[in-house]
Amino acid sequence: MIVVIKKDQEKKQVQNLISWVEKLGLKVHLSEGENTTIIGLVGDTSKVDIDLIRTLDIVESVTRVQEPYKNANRKFHPADSIIDVNSCKFGGNHFQIIAGPCSIESEKQVIEVAMACKKAGATLLRGGAFKPRTSPYSFQGMGVDGLKLLKKAKAETGLPIVTEIMSEEHIDDFEGVDVMQVGARNMQNFDLLKRLGKLKTPILLKRGIAATIEEWLMSAEYIMSEGNPNVILCERGIRTYETYTRNTLDLSAIPVLKERTHLPVIVDPSHALGISRFVKPMSLASVGAGADGLMIEVHNDPAHALCDGAQSLRPEQFEDVVTSLRAMLPAVGKELN
Ligand code: PEP
Ligand code: MN
Repeated sequence: MIVVIKKDQEKKQVQNLISWVEKLGLKVHLSEGENTTIIGLVGDTSKVDIDLIRTLDIVESVTRVQEPYKNANRKFHPADSIIDVNSCKFGGNHFQIIAGPCSIESEKQVIEVAMACKKAGATLLRGGAFKPRTSPYSFQGMGVDGLKLLKKAKAETGLPIVTEIMSEEHIDDFEGVDVMQVGARNMQNFDLLKRLGKLKTPILLKRGIAATIEEWLMSAEYIMSEGNPNVILCERGIRTYETYTRNTLDLSAIPVLKERTHLPVIVDPSHALGISRFVKPMSLASVGAGADGLMIEVHNDPAHALCDGAQSLRPEQFEDVVTSLRAMLPAVGKELN
């Protein structure tokens, strides 16, 4: 339910209303914009007498929200959410480029790639330590040792780091990680989502392999309803009948999400297409569609990468993508960092 407050009302009266609905056992999502104050009510709103609220002097209007996602709903929070990761802002007119290897393989590899990504213009560094592989016989990632190397690369470059968490049992090892990624395969690992909701660390929530946009937003809702508002959505391709690409990049999800949610949306063209030469055109297309950032896999020796070499750009190819992005961003009113 959404309660729109009339302009220039006394804060105390707004607070009285909030306390009253909280006593009914509802959670309140307050959005104070320049012109409008909106109180979003989350929970079992059947207990609320909608007509009674309508008659209050300070209330402009009351409407029931049909969508099952509330905290993530743009109706609750009309302005874009801006999520600050060590001064790298996601959302609004900001644009971020997360780059780095699929997996952390050695100290030399991750530091070399991190330096090259920074030089080329990346604003955050990625690297997987815990890898969700289809086969149990494939490289599973370096685990905790990999996390240590990624933190070393952060110290060397100053770039904030993004890495995937697969299980809540590792949360303590993620101290010092700036963005925790929930991968496509874990988008509906509800216990993990609820646990991450207890943190304040920004969560990069990838779209599930066969998830609808609404299912994806409901997963964001799991994190947000536990108290963590810092969710960044990442479109990474969905499974379709197409076989010429690894997945099908659903660029239409971007404008649809922008209408329905205030959360930032980024695109991972590397996992979406699975082929390095298609990363540049789809990166530019993502900007055109309104993305707030990109996540791109970069490796110094893709031919020998332990994971996802075919979709990884060499540093000079990545630099070429960034050059084109820089030229394009002003046209859509966005700024790199
Ligand atoms: C990744 O980013 O390393 C990854 C495994 O991505 P996804 O979950 O989108 O497959
Ligand atoms: Mn990968």
